[in-house]
Amino acid sequence: MKIVKFMHHNVKVSAMDHLRGRHRDHCLCFQCKKLNIEDREKNCKIANLLFSVCKMCEITTPVFYCKEFIAKGMDKQHIIDILK
Ligand code: SF4
Repeated sequence: MKIVKFMHHNVKVSAMDHLRGRHRDHCLCFQCKKLNIEDREKNCKIANLLFSVCKMCEITTPVFYCKEFIAKGMDKQHIIDILK
């Protein structure tokens, strides 16, 4: 594994090279109806809170698990409830 250092929003940060720029691919929020990055007032409160922490600490993090998730534009066949 390689670690790379690069500029992100004018701040020098470090990341695993193979994950750099990939957070949207892995973040559940980008498949969720509640995410509204165009309008922070209407955006998910959890996503807004996480965004505040990311901004404050200059980190980038995807959401892997969420109890509030609502799928957007996804066929039911792609949503598998393994509790059943
Ligand atoms: S409900 Fe969960 S998955 Fe959906 S936008 Fe909010 S934090 Fe992300």
